[in-house]
Amino acid sequence: MDIKVNFSGRALKYTEEEIAAVVDAMRNGETLTQGRYLQEFQKKFAIYQGLPEGSCFAVMNGVSALELSAQLCGFKPGDELVVPSHTFTASAYPYAKKGAQLVWADIDLATRVVTAETIRAVLTPRTRAIVVVHLYGYVADMPAIMELARSRGILVIEDAAQSIGADIGGVRSGSFGDMAIFSFHSHKNLTTLGEGGMLVVRDEKLAELVPALRHNGHCPYPGERQDYWIPAMGNVDLPMLDGQALWPNNYCIGEMECALGIAMLERIDRINAEKRARALRFIDALSAYPELEFHRVDTTRHNYHLLAARMLNGKRDAFIRAMYNKHGVKCVVQYLPLNRYDFYVKLGLEHADCANADAFYDSMISFPFQHWLTDEEFEHMLAASKHVLEELRSS
Ligand SMILES: *Cc1c(COP(=O)(O)O)cnc(C)c1O
Repeated sequence: MDIKVNFSGRALKYTEEEIAAVVDAMRNGETLTQGRYLQEFQKKFAIYQGLPEGSCFAVMNGVSALELSAQLCGFKPGDELVVPSHTFTASAYPYAKKGAQLVWADIDLATRVVTAETIRAVLTPRTRAIVVVHLYGYVADMPAIMELARSRGILVIEDAAQSIGADIGGVRSGSFGDMAIFSFHSHKNLTTLGEGGMLVVRDEKLAELVPALRHNGHCPYPGERQDYWIPAMGNVDLPMLDGQALWPNNYCIGEMECALGIAMLERIDRINAEKRARALRFIDALSAYPELEFHRVDTTRHNYHLLAARMLNGKRDAFIRAMYNKHGVKCVVQYLPLNRYDFYVKLGLEHADCANADAFYDSMISFPFQHWLTDEEFEHMLAASKHVLEELRSS
């Protein structure tokens, strides 16, 4: 069977204006990195998020933003970090790499994200920080989670890699926590060529450390120098956090990516609205089949980065097989609970009290849902789904 609807590694097709924005930076950029497009992208991103200027830092991908956020947590031996087991591996390992002891939180089965309750269940006096992942594009209950964290003096980092533009009461995901990260990877709803990311840091003192951490410890010299060339560029210094030295990195993003990011901010709300409308059409058209359970949200709290469902009749694999073999539609299963991967088993992190994460993974289906699916492909996938669901009922 030829593939008719692929699970694509690419989320978007760019408009001519967006392509022109990249070409403009290629032609006219005064530098190809760390220039005016970077400054403008950060500024416009902060405006989009409703955040103060100077709180957003573009970086080369989501993981580099996660690594910087982990450094800024300043973990001490024994500090714990709570993270959902049901997420992409990048939400978790950067914190282990910077010295945190990972503790798995369960998800809510209906929304597939953590709640204040599932987090509270695993807090200890050693909990230093919590990573809240707005997986699939749905914003977790941030007001309740922030209230819990504030009452215990715990830092909150939002992994908004999949949820750009989604909001609760007009506050966008990534604007609730102490820090947040975004990804502009090829798969995401906003992409800057293949890679890109953003770090949000709300505390001004911590934010001051980010440019040097991002760029090899480079920082300006204090005061005037008589000869600008002695030595070339600026100073190099060791970023310090509460008396602890932090190693710098080079996590810079190029000017072409930033130029594209600026242009994409103009279209992201439309992309999200189009994905949401399609998701609702799909979900509603299959409402006669309650054995396939979706998470239906008709507000901007969900951007439907991904379209995921649960098969409640135990026929998940038969469904995926039939969709592929008979109809050429490539569905996949995503987000093996992290504690079940060799990586985390080898770190001694195989134990998790996350029954919902396990139950969800073991019955989940992720449909191809890139923004550029044609209407014809989309309708084919819908008709194929109905066909297979009918067949499975009589099998
Ligand atoms: C994509 C993603 C990341 C990592 O982003 P990159 O830009 O690929 O480094 C982190 N967390 C989640 C939930 C993601 O989906």
